Amino acid sequence: MRLSGEQPITMATPIKQSTSRTRPPSTETSSVTTMGDADSDSENSESEGGMGSLNRLVVRPPGHSGKAKRGHLCFDASFETGNLGRVDLVNEFEYDVYIRPDTCNPRVRMWFNFTIDNTRVDQRVILNIVNLSKAKNLFELGMTPLIRSTSRPKWQRIPRKYMYYFRSPQHNGHHILSLCQGFDKEEDVYHFALSFPYSYSKCQAYLQLLEQRQYPFFRREVLAHSIQKRKVDIVTITSPSNLQLIESGKKQHIVMIMARIHPGDAPTSFVCQGMLDLLVSNHPVAVCLRDMLVFKVIPMMNPDGVFLGNHRSNLLGQDLNRNWHDCNEWAHPTLHAFQQLVNEYSNNKSISLDFIVDLHSNTSLPGVFVYGNTYDDVYR
Ligand SMILES: [Zn+2]
Repeated sequence: MRLSGEQPITMATPIKQSTSRTRPPSTETSSVTTMGDADSDSENSESEGGMGSLNRLVVRPPGHSGKAKRGHLCFDASFETGNLGRVDLVNEFEYDVYIRPDTCNPRVRMWFNFTIDNTRVDQRVILNIVNLSKAKNLFELGMTPLIRSTSRPKWQRIPRKYMYYFRSPQHNGHHILSLCQGFDKEEDVYHFALSFPYSYSKCQAYLQLLEQRQYPFFRREVLAHSIQKRKVDIVTITSPSNLQLIESGKKQHIVMIMARIHPGDAPTSFVCQGMLDLLVSNHPVAVCLRDMLVFKVIPMMNPDGVFLGNHRSNLLGQDLNRNWHDCNEWAHPTLHAFQQLVNEYSNNKSISLDFIVDLHSNTSLPGVFVYGNTYDDVYR
């Protein structure tokens, strides 16, 4: 039996891009934006900025007024982890869409997550994502974004044959990502995202679920609060006897695991959740690990950035992974709290901090890889 979520979401036969692109007067559809021009240099643009994602913007043809008709697409990203900053109608079949830059960091534009509704049956469009800030990325290697719709709620990869990543002469030679989409069900809302979204709320709900199971080897605490006062949870997993050992002064081995210091690294939340699922299970490996080690897991280091739909930055536009050497309680409360904890462990003779594992996903390198520190002492 096929689940409804497995049915392909109808794609259009690719429509050749019109060579004579007739852009509408800028006042028609771009009046809501403050993002500047994507044609400016994508790595160094200082002209872009802004906090807000689009809130149900209906894109109408030039000169149209009154009630929107079916097929006047409605774009929305005003939800948790949503990101879309601007839409320009190029012609009846083609839209230029702009990622909303990270809050206070106009140079970072990669994560996108938005919906389209008010479609017409058999309407076929090309969506050009025109302001990606990194030209070298996995689209070159054939990675495709995701789509789902109301009646097919399971995320699917957009088939490669409906995606083009190329230097566009119409966009000053910049790399753009073109998606060909056919809308087959008028009542559906179509949802597009760079990768599988994993929100702050989802993380909270998952941790709450673990907490409710009342495992004797599981403890959830708050490590810190983000600038916007979201919780940064720290989960301890170890056999109950180990916790008593720490108090009695016997040596314990700690492994710290953290994820989502970069909001756009959404895949790592699934990895982190998978690790937690294993560690709380009855699997013999998990039982052994809980006996030998104390796990300290921080599933979401940058909850504000995740909530806001940023790619790399926190609320202040800072890349937290570039601030370890110079963090403070006001601007980087989560880093500061983490560092305090590491220092506390390091100064405790009954604790051996064996590993700190920092989970990331990468937009330009395929596969799985590990970066590590090296020490003079080979046994480390
Ligand atoms: Zn990262």
